[in-house]
Amino acid sequence: MIRVACPTCRAQFDVQEAFAGRTAKCSNCGGQIQILAAAPPPVGVPAPPPVPGGVAPFAGRPTGYSGVSIAGFTCGLIGFLFSLLEVIPCIGCWLLPVSIPTTLAGLVCSIIGLVTAKKANRKKGLAIAGLVLSIVAIIWAPLAFFLFLGGLAGLGATAPNMGPPPRF
Ligand SMILES: [Zn+2]
Repeated sequence: MIRVACPTCRAQFDVQEAFAGRTAKCSNCGGQIQILAAAPPPVGVPAPPPVPGGVAPFAGRPTGYSGVSIAGFTCGLIGFLFSLLEVIPCIGCWLLPVSIPTTLAGLVCSIIGLVTAKKANRKKGLAIAGLVLSIVAIIWAPLAFFLFLGGLAGLGATAPNMGPPPRF
């Protein structure tokens, strides 16, 4: 006997093997039932697609963010915010020694988070955001530094003339 399920009302019937490959009429709702030689495919749950090259590491939906992704995003965000403030003289002097290691930590953690998220089928959003923020902060930091120097030069220009620069 073959067990078949009606796709319309999901009623199950046992039919003879002789009817395999044919269609039958559901006695419950009158719908068409395809009688397959083997067991009917599970209704409602689609089979997971085959993974090329072997075994799927983790089946199912991606789980939450890994700790290293959260750390990467947090450090990247702090580094990014600090780099924005570096243009302000005095604050910049204080923030540069903090923001540079923070930004680098954010970059490293985001890359690790991204790589591990890819392997472990975890969410990547935070790691990507951390990576982008870190890269922006790294690009912005030297610009901020030159703007900071420019601000100092601007202050110097308003100072009284100190004479020609010393020669060596
Ligand atoms: Zn039916």
